[in-house]
Amino acid sequence: NRVLYSEVHRPCSVMLLVNPHSGKGQALSLFTGHVQHMLNEAGVPHTLVITERQNHARELVREADLSQWGALVIMSGDGLLFEVVNGLMEREDWEEAIQTPLGILPGGSGNALAASIHHYSGAQPVSSEELLVSCGFLLCKGLVSRMDLASIHLGSSPSNPTRLFSFLSLAWGFVADVDVESEKYRHVGAARFTMGTLVRLASLRVYKGRLAYLPVDEVDGEEEDRQSSVSLEEMTSVSPQCQPPSSAFCSSTLLCRPSKDSPCQNAAHNSRNSNNAFKAKNWEPMSANATLTGPPDSLLVPLDQPVPSDWVVVPEEDFVLMLAMYQSHLAKDLYAAPDSTLDDGLIHLIYVRAGISRTALLRLFLAMEKGTHLANNCPHLVYTRVRALRLEPYSPKGVITVDGEVVEYGPVQAQVHGGIARLITR
Ligand code: ADP
Ligand code: MG
Repeated sequence: NRVLYSEVHRPCSVMLLVNPHSGKGQALSLFTGHVQHMLNEAGVPHTLVITERQNHARELVREADLSQWGALVIMSGDGLLFEVVNGLMEREDWEEAIQTPLGILPGGSGNALAASIHHYSGAQPVSSEELLVSCGFLLCKGLVSRMDLASIHLGSSPSNPTRLFSFLSLAWGFVADVDVESEKYRHVGAARFTMGTLVRLASLRVYKGRLAYLPVDEVDGEEEDRQSSVSLEEMTSVSPQCQPPSSAFCSSTLLCRPSKDSPCQNAAHNSRNSNNAFKAKNWEPMSANATLTGPPDSLLVPLDQPVPSDWVVVPEEDFVLMLAMYQSHLAKDLYAAPDSTLDDGLIHLIYVRAGISRTALLRLFLAMEKGTHLANNCPHLVYTRVRALRLEPYSPKGVITVDGEVVEYGPVQAQVHGGIARLITR
């Protein structure tokens, strides 16, 4: 008899952001067909917001009055949550803003976080539609847990580094290239990664660069301290009778599309639409946070200085891929970091050295479906758990992705911040 998103000081309406173009372009019909009635029956008041362009969600949550919302939930792929997380971390009040419970409903082609939370709930792998229903159910239950974020510094201009926040992954080499190249297969949904992997295998190449990391052992005591403090405040739950506090919210059945051309029918909502939160603006492209709001990165030194002496510098400089993960799944069928949990405060670093055969690499990806790749004794694969890392690619052009989104290419470093966000899960 416990449920939803409300803490004493929060009203309990959910802002449900839908990217109508994600996945096969069916996110909205998937929502109305599979999830909406569940939320209505569970009495979860929600306001649907259809994004109109890239960065719309980011801008919206950056400006929103968060006291009005019990949770921010996205129905899309991981890319839309990436916008929401960064929008929150770009706020002056980021420390409080990032406490807003976040939720995810898989509506995209890359639904890695949704697959991860389904896995954490103890359930077996399922089809895409069942995954959506499973995540809808978690949303109705509304239990909130802590989630790690990584702070990512991009330093093509070391004197003026930019920073963004990531909940899932940092990738370079094979995986990042597949992510980008498989965009053209988005009509096949989650299978786009399998197709992209096969195509990229045919033109397998070597990526040169320097990789360094801070191993976990160096700060083990700190890990124990953090984990014991987090477990005390891990879960939040409230009453299922929770009702929207006032008519200022759309009812759960009202589809609200706050745009200039099609204003919402709800007068109260239109007055919201006319404030800054919903106004179209000229936003910068998918970019990093130049003002460096957010927590200090105590483990990192500036990118133009050598890494600290307690870091490990990887001797090899020829790679096939580098993948840093903080959740278990890289995609619905890619169980890339089996040991990872939502808030372990760890970066699970996987890299593959050059020299691996196509067959061996294919075998690794096939094993990844079951999460057995790390036990495969592949001599080219290295897996280690770290707190921070730095990658300096040597080639002037290439692809780096953060949470599946392409970011500025160049030297990059990351540090994990254990449990600083909150996610509706279990
Ligand atoms: P998918 O998993 O299908 O790629 P994502 O949620 O990752 O779905 O979204 C893909 C990209 O689309 C992201 O970069 C996101 O920021 C962007 N995006 C969000 N809303 C819109 C929109 N209305 N129109 C175009 N792009 C959008
Ligand atoms: Mg983790």
